[in-house]
Amino acid sequence: MKNIAILGAGPAGLSSAYELAKISDNFENEYNVVIFEKSSEVGGISKTALNNGYYFDLGGHRFFTKIEDVSNMWNDILKDEFILRPRLSRIYYNKKFFNYPVKVFDAVSKLGLKEDFLIFMSFMKSQMLKRKEISFEDWVSNRFGYRLYSIFFKTYTEKVWATPCDKIQAEWASQRIKGLSIGAIIKRELLGDKNEVIKTLIDEFLYPKYGPGQMYSELAKTLTEKDVKIAYNSYISAITTKENKIVSIVDNNDNEFEIDELISSIPIDDMVRLLNPPNEVLDAITNLKFRSFIIVNLVFDNLVDLKDTWIYIHEPEVKLGRVQIFNNWSPHLVKNSNCSSIGAEFFCSENDELWVLPDNEIIKKAEEEIKKIDLIPDNFKITDAKVVRVPKAYPVYDEGYKNNLNIVIDYLNAFENLQLIGRAGMFKYNNMDHSIYTGFLAARNIAYGKKYDIWGVNQDQEYHEEIKSDKW
Ligand SMILES: Cc1cc2nc3c(=O)[nH]c(=O)nc-3n(C[C@H](O)[C@H](O)[C@H](O)COP(=O)(O)OP(=O)(O)OC[C@H]3O[C@@H](n4cnc5c(N)ncnc54)[C@H](O)[C@@H]3O)c2cc1C
Repeated sequence: MKNIAILGAGPAGLSSAYELAKISDNFENEYNVVIFEKSSEVGGISKTALNNGYYFDLGGHRFFTKIEDVSNMWNDILKDEFILRPRLSRIYYNKKFFNYPVKVFDAVSKLGLKEDFLIFMSFMKSQMLKRKEISFEDWVSNRFGYRLYSIFFKTYTEKVWATPCDKIQAEWASQRIKGLSIGAIIKRELLGDKNEVIKTLIDEFLYPKYGPGQMYSELAKTLTEKDVKIAYNSYISAITTKENKIVSIVDNNDNEFEIDELISSIPIDDMVRLLNPPNEVLDAITNLKFRSFIIVNLVFDNLVDLKDTWIYIHEPEVKLGRVQIFNNWSPHLVKNSNCSSIGAEFFCSENDELWVLPDNEIIKKAEEEIKKIDLIPDNFKITDAKVVRVPKAYPVYDEGYKNNLNIVIDYLNAFENLQLIGRAGMFKYNNMDHSIYTGFLAARNIAYGKKYDIWGVNQDQEYHEEIKSDKW
């Protein structure tokens, strides 16, 4: 019997256990699997929170994947509990809605003649005087001109990362918004989109009736039936190693567990610190930065007349970054369909001035900002509100991150029975499907004897980002 400890019961950790149970013919006798989860719930960032009868995601979670094994698991767990939802997500700027992904004719018709002229001149200049592509700003300006870039890319990107766009790597833009340029957009607008499959995936998406939390609580139930133990409110306080192996772990209640394999989906810095690494690794891990975010669920006593699932807020005078309209994600999320269930999202860093504000002040700020930009009428009253702070939501791909991550990976690779999986776990901008897939591979490595390169997952960013980039 092999003792396997999995740290974190988010999509990645749960999926590792699911895969082990699926591929083993004799699971109960072959493996003793314990999942240590710091919080009292499963699902991690992909859980669905509850606010007095109103369900809301920590940032709406679309289910989309090209990985068959992942969609098989989703279908196996939720069966017919998925609904197909129409997607509308627009940019809000200057109190006007713009198509997202940006459409040139739509933007030109709404910005006014003077602005159009300035955009045209700036675009011509960018084509004559191409910049060397070092930063995000260079990359986007070369394709759209500086003026259009500053309206549709700069403000929002700087809200998310709190870093000036001329300090963000050009690689970030080329990975996330591959194939996007004015020429490509105009061609698509004039000739139509030939790729119907991708187009459909963009216009509609799958979503569990009660949000992604439904998926991961059902998955946890299935695992419990298979004798996987989920230890809630548990985390690891110490790890003992011998030569290149982890031999035991100690939890927060001082229980020691001997282990054969350790799979970790907890934030990579927390994991590495438990190993007491040398100074060089400690420095590298300290320089891997995360962005966090806060979502405020506001329930208003009236129904807002908007069909969007989510809206990107490009208004520079507010800190508000994105707005979710949960009524449009699924009618099952709202207790009263005559009320609006809104998610006001703020990007921030742990312990910055927004993060430490008391909940009632964050709620007040969310309401003020959403009304200031006229998204919600002034006479709508809040009936319920809830704040959720999400630490380490986004790994920051800054100048030094690759080098630092490589130092950490080299160090971790020396441990024979340790595997890192997931989003914060691997410091990778993984969506649910890639997080889950890394969990599957870790399980297969245990069952079949280490064959799969987990760090290689998500190298190919091809899928829907070809057409547009979702800013999760
Ligand atoms: C705003 C936002 C929107 C997103 N939208 C989408 C979307 O639409 N579609 C999509 O596919 N993906 C989306 N994603 C990505 C998705 O949320 C992640 O890929 C997924 O949740 C990562 O799963 P994970 O298991 O790796 O990590 P997490 O979800 O972070 O889970 C990690 C778990 O580990 C636990 N933990 C942390 N520290 C410890 C510790 N020390 N000990 C024990 N347990 C610990 C946490 O409590 C958590 O339960 C979005 C992400 C964000 C931030």
